[in-house]
Amino acid sequence: MGNTATNSIESMSKNLQNVKCDFPILQKTFHGKRLTYLDSAASTQKPNAVIDCISNFLKNDYANIHRGVYALSQRSTERYEKARRDVAQFIHAKTPKEIVFLRGTTEGINLIANTFGRARVGQGDEVLISSMEHHSNIVPWQLLCLEKKAQLKTIPMFKDGSLDLSKIESLISSKTKLISIVHVSNALGTINPIKDIVEIGKKHDIPVIVDGAQSAAHLEVNVQELGCDFFIFSGHKVYGPTGIGALYGRYELLKEMPPYQGGGEMIESVSFEKSTFKLPPDRFEAGTPDIMGAVGLSAAIEYISEIGFDTIGKHEATLLKYAHKQLQQIKGLEIIGTALSKSGVISFVLDGIHPHDIATILDQDGIAVRAGHHCAQPVMDYFGVPATTRASIGIYNNEEDIDALVSALHHVQEIFK
Ligand code: PLP
Repeated sequence: MGNTATNSIESMSKNLQNVKCDFPILQKTFHGKRLTYLDSAASTQKPNAVIDCISNFLKNDYANIHRGVYALSQRSTERYEKARRDVAQFIHAKTPKEIVFLRGTTEGINLIANTFGRARVGQGDEVLISSMEHHSNIVPWQLLCLEKKAQLKTIPMFKDGSLDLSKIESLISSKTKLISIVHVSNALGTINPIKDIVEIGKKHDIPVIVDGAQSAAHLEVNVQELGCDFFIFSGHKVYGPTGIGALYGRYELLKEMPPYQGGGEMIESVSFEKSTFKLPPDRFEAGTPDIMGAVGLSAAIEYISEIGFDTIGKHEATLLKYAHKQLQQIKGLEIIGTALSKSGVISFVLDGIHPHDIATILDQDGIAVRAGHHCAQPVMDYFGVPATTRASIGIYNNEEDIDALVSALHHVQEIFK
């Protein structure tokens, strides 16, 4: 991407009216109905730009990277390293050296917990997360706390699904060694005030890790402006492939961190007595990485950058407002998560009907939504529900999709009358 995508943000704001045409899967029918895809929080669909880029890369440029002296390997290496530069620019890292490729957000948080976390957290220490975390920002810290005899603490939230920041200071002490917080909640849609949390962290000299799985596709992320120490996101949630994600870490911190996994490519030298390791990011990329995943992610970044976050933000905010308004007119429907600062995730319960039944019937109408705990069981516990139905918005959704959802929900109610 280099500067091209950013330059083109201003020059060509894509018309989102036609954006569905960029996604071949959205032209398909299911159960004889046009697909209404409202599950982008789980994974986004892929535009032709990404599909074609991966296919062309495999046809023309693919070889294993870094170790080949031949031209094709060098070409492939250049594509992989360009992807790293693209990610760095996408989230405004200072340098591509601050970007580590890995499988996704889950692996990124585990990497930090097992390296940075393990070195920093000791017996009796505390790790602070929020009460609306995805399991992948709970369990790695629980495992670490178990190992270290440390304690996991949580910032509470209000009934609208916004964090009660007034409680943070009282939860922090000299024992608090890390704060790890979700940027946008996948179960509620809440956008957390990361800058404020980072400021509090800085005041107490506590590093802040941001789970950006649900934000990177919807908000312009600027890690330098946010001031966070780590930021992680997954390729498959930003219109790119599965199996690839990126971890941003401030270089001073990455340099301090021991390796996560050992193997080829992450070493400087190996003997039976001792190995020495490369500097980051290579230190954290043992073995053959997901080369085509990185190239596909780079195409996805270029694609959404061409549309631009101004356009994406306005479109998704308008659609979210429309969806709330339409859904709230359905008798017996309650939206879980109504924070003022909210992204396009709409979790709801419908009186007397289990979310799994709702999702199954919606599927018959060609509507893809998710039902369950959304890997956020503590959130479900807090709201006193076993599960919710969740509709989540991507750039390709429009009012017609919301209307289809509303009409199908009336159909669900008819069936259960
Ligand atoms: N964090 C949040 C907020 C998520 O929504 C998800 C996935 O839904 C993850 C982490 C885990 O992402 P992945 O499965 O891509 O590793």
